Formats: sequence, C-alpha cells, structure tokens
Amino acid sequence: SAGAPLPVLGLDVEVPLADGGRAPYAALDYAASTPALRRVWDDVAAYLPLYSSVHRGAGHLSRLSTDLYEQSRRTVAGFLDLPPDHRVVFTRGTTDSLNLLAAALPEGTRVFSFASEHHASLLPWRRPGLRPVCLPVPRSPHEAVALLEEALAAAPAGPSLLCVTGASNVTGELWPVADLAAAARRHGARVVLDAAQLAPHRRVSVRELGVDWVALSGHKLHAPFGAGVLAGRTDWLDAAAPYLAGGGAGRTVEHREDGTLAVEWHRGPARHEAGSPNVVGAHALASACRALTEAGRDALAAREEELLARLRSGLAEAPGVRVLGLFGERHPRVGVLSFTVDGWESARFAEALSDGYGIGVRAGLFCAHPLVRALLGGTAARPAPCGASGSPLPGERSLDAVRVSFGAGTPEEHIERFLSAV
Ligand code: PMP
Repeated sequence: SAGAPLPVLGLDVEVPLADGGRAPYAALDYAASTPALRRVWDDVAAYLPLYSSVHRGAGHLSRLSTDLYEQSRRTVAGFLDLPPDHRVVFTRGTTDSLNLLAAALPEGTRVFSFASEHHASLLPWRRPGLRPVCLPVPRSPHEAVALLEEALAAAPAGPSLLCVTGASNVTGELWPVADLAAAARRHGARVVLDAAQLAPHRRVSVRELGVDWVALSGHKLHAPFGAGVLAGRTDWLDAAAPYLAGGGAGRTVEHREDGTLAVEWHRGPARHEAGSPNVVGAHALASACRALTEAGRDALAAREEELLARLRSGLAEAPGVRVLGLFGERHPRVGVLSFTVDGWESARFAEALSDGYGIGVRAGLFCAHPLVRALLGGTAARPAPCGASGSPLPGERSLDAVRVSFGAGTPEEHIERFLSAV
C-alpha cells in the first residue's frame, strides 16, 4: 500500500454516468488543476471573515491582512529555498509570472527555450525588444544540455535567459534543471524555472538548482485559482518599468507645472503588484506550501512513485496503449503521464472514462503543440487550437493524447478504477 493521501476536497462529489448511475468523481487531471487541500480550505475559511485592504489601511484588520500577505511571501521564499536577497512577487499564475519576467528583461535579451515547453514558457518571449531562440526537442537529458551549450556558445554577447520546465506537463518527465543551469552560468546566461508541474510533486530549491527565478501557480499546488508566484533575483525587476502601473507601485507621484507627472516607483515586489492584491489567494498558496512541507516532500514523492509504478505496470498490460516520453522508460517522472490508445480518438477515450466511470482526465495537445507532435512522430499535424483535441480523421494517425495525472491527494482507488476502466 502506498500510504495515506493528503486530505483534499471533492472526494465525495458524485457525478452522473451515461447509464443513469452515479460515481464518486476521480480527479485524475492534477496537471491541469489540483483539488484544494482541506488544510487550505480551513486556513482560507478562518481568514475570510477578517480580510481587509493591505498596505494602506491603519485599522486592525488591515494590519492583520498586511502581516498575513507579507508572511505569505516569507513562507513561499522558504518553500523555494530562496537566497536571502531574492524576492517573491505575487502574480495570477505561471503564465502571468513569465509574462512579467518577459516585460522586465533588458532590451535585446536572447531567450532560449526548448520547443517542448508548455506554451506559457514558449510564447511570452515573442515581444518587441527580445530575441527568442527555440531549441529543438531533445531526446535525452544529455542532448538537452549539449543543445543549450551549443546555442549559447554561438550567441553574440549580451544578456541571455533560458526558460525551462522542471517537469513536463505532457510526459511528467523531470528535466535536468541543475545541469542546464550550470551550462547557462558557464556562458553568463540566467535561468527561469517553470515549476508549475514540478513544485506540486518535488521539493524545489533555488539554491541547489542554481536558477535565477521560479514561476509557479497556486491552482496546481492544491490552492484555488488566481494566485501565482515569480520568485528570484531583483536587479532586472527593479530596473524595469512596472508590469502593472497604478496604486501601490509608485512611491511618490507629483504633478509638475509643465503638466507631466514625476513618478518614483517602488523597488521590490510592490513595483510590479499595483492594485489591491489577491491576499486570500496568496494566503491559500502559502497554506498549501506549509501543508506540503509539513507532510514531508520526500514521503509524498515516495508515495507518488508507488502509485506511478502501479499505473505504469497496469498500462503496460493494456493492449494498444502507448505511453509517451522523450527520455526513455526509466527516466524519472512525476505523476503525469500521456498515452495513446490504438483505435481510439483521444477525446472519445477521455469521454468514455468520464461517462462510464466518473474519471476526469484530459485529452488533447496540452498547450504544448510542438512537443506532442514530436512525441507522436508527426510534423504535418493539422493546426489545432490550444485545448482542442485535434482528433484524427479516418485513416489518420492520432494527433493527440490522453493525459492522466495525480498527486498528493490521490487515493489508490482512483488509480485502480482508472486501470480497470482502461
Ligand atoms: N507551465 C506548465 C508546465 C504548465 O503545465 C502550465 C499549466 N498547464 C503553465 C505553465 C501555465 O500555468 P497557468 O495556467 O496557471 O498560468
């Protein structure tokens, strides 16, 4: 037995089946969004009656909210093992965090990313003033480092950044982040880690990995939607124009006689967090960080690996199921796995799991179109909008996949039900 899951919400939600029956919902789409931890619910429920504006009010509850918000930053800093001079900026999520960083990069920065990235890590760098460089999809961790080294060696002098995922949202495979960061450093490049999929499953230490920034999302970390983090170095962020301009970002604002405004912007997180912040979201995210840490990241990862081993051996026995991966069967992965099923359109297969068994998975291209196409061996796939299934026409090979993903709150029964349904 894999030990007890962490208590999460939603385990008692019943969903309708196609035969008129009902089944408890099995959430096996953690890579999209994780169910909230019961502990997060408790912390949020205790805070909701007390919430008030932060930073501006002098009243007791405003001070309490301000303390809680700043404490949430410190909790996240501890969770990510940040060096003392690094800072935590609260955002809306990973996509927002990476767009913030893109907006703050020095003019002319070359941004390297592998084509296998989630679109959130691939697309924000396509903006005036930046030079995005898309590296090929590597077939081994060693090749990933070699491709980066080669590209950095060929690049002209100037600021450069690597954006890399910690764990793939399609295959769950772990990326050689520390090795890539070391290669980047050898060439004077900085690194931002997309930890949206890594942080829910493994401890993330900015110090040990040697990265400069980390981006993550609360809703993939057992907290609700709308809160995320960009954590890391401050120099480029403090030198950049505010990501959002408005109340809280300006230290002083003066109306000059010539009709212009003289603005002195804050340094630090406030510079990029104008407007009333999402204190409830930050508090929830920090609560999830504390709960995961207290449960023991290694123990959670060990339990997850047991469930993953069961899942893999079960799928290996299922005829026609092909599990997707870049780095070989033995390469470590988190609880995220995509596969195709001979004779099935992925979207229909996912629907059948839902309608017949109350199981929620996802089918499609997972906002990582180039990666899924590379995994399926096709370069001529029809374009499909992000999130659409791109189902094969008669005679066409499958262009998309089914993804099953799970984590700290998943009961063994969900995995067993999924395998018998498959
Ligand atoms: N990066 C990765 C690896 C992801 O899996 C996701 C979400 N699927 C994102 C970034 C974007 O996260 P969000 O939608 O919370 O901004």
